[in-house]
Amino acid sequence: MTAQLIDGNALSRQLRESVAQRVATLKTQGITPGLAVVLVGDNPASQVYVRNKVKACHDTGMHSVLEQYGATMTEADLLARVDALNNDPTIHGILVQLPLPAHIDAHKVIEAISPAKDVDGFHVASAGALMVGQPGFWPCTPYGCMKMLESIGYNLRGKHAVVIGRSNIVGKPMALMLLQQNATVTVCHSATPDLKAMTLQADVIVAAVGKRNVLTADMVKPGAVVIDVGMNRNDEGKLCGDVDFAGVKEVASHITPVPGGVGPMTITMLMVNTLESAERGLAAQA
Ligand code: NAP
Repeated sequence: MTAQLIDGNALSRQLRESVAQRVATLKTQGITPGLAVVLVGDNPASQVYVRNKVKACHDTGMHSVLEQYGATMTEADLLARVDALNNDPTIHGILVQLPLPAHIDAHKVIEAISPAKDVDGFHVASAGALMVGQPGFWPCTPYGCMKMLESIGYNLRGKHAVVIGRSNIVGKPMALMLLQQNATVTVCHSATPDLKAMTLQADVIVAAVGKRNVLTADMVKPGAVVIDVGMNRNDEGKLCGDVDFAGVKEVASHITPVPGGVGPMTITMLMVNTLESAERGLAAQA
């Protein structure tokens, strides 16, 4: 069997069109959704990410502010910038690009962002809201994975989902989202003794590890859906995921490619969260 591709670029285009329409509607009510992106230091990968986020804002008609600071910026100065953005009515979402330089406590900075503007969904309040099923902002990467499953009409009820990876930004929130959709969820990590025994039971596998070929064809039940969050480089320096794509696509029913899978969805869900923040603000005024 050759799996059907879940095309993150195509789905992103579709979702961004609908975001652009909702942005246009909000503008008629005098609100332009605004995202502030704060970058500290000169990490080249971060510079690409922030540029893509700002471009996505422009493409969907949103307002964006890119604040770039040198690597020597103090934690106090960064906290002061976050505070100013919290109080800026033209800004509905604040994103502080990670990683931050080592002298800055990233947790402290994220906790300083108002939960009402935490469009990355990394604040403890956002994590807590997801945990108890209350409205909040879902972290963009696992949220994008859920949209990909939705796009193929996949009903998670009663299905066994195996998440590989337990980070706060991908693995753990992913597991909670799958649970909320009535899947039975297993979370694997570096201390899982027999990963293959787990993944072979899975109807859905989400790989979020950051290591090439963590998931190979012999580890996948025929017909399973495979979502590859990983971003790695192969021997030729090309972007690749955690999944042995060539092998696994012959066993899975659906698979996401890297590149062109989860990556574009992450930025798209950031747009969705920023738009929703602006819409919530308007609803709160009514
Ligand atoms: P992370 O914080 O490094 O977490 C990696 C997880 O993988 C950890 O929970 C770790 O277990 C687990 N792990 C490591 N080796 C393993 C193994 N051999 N078997 C099973 N589990 C293992 O990474 P992350 O931030 O979640 O990101 C994961 C990957 O997704 C990275 O490649 C990252 O670049 C990519 N990513 C992509 C996007 C996107 O937009 N496409 C967004 C975010 C992240 P322990 O907890 O036991 O250490």
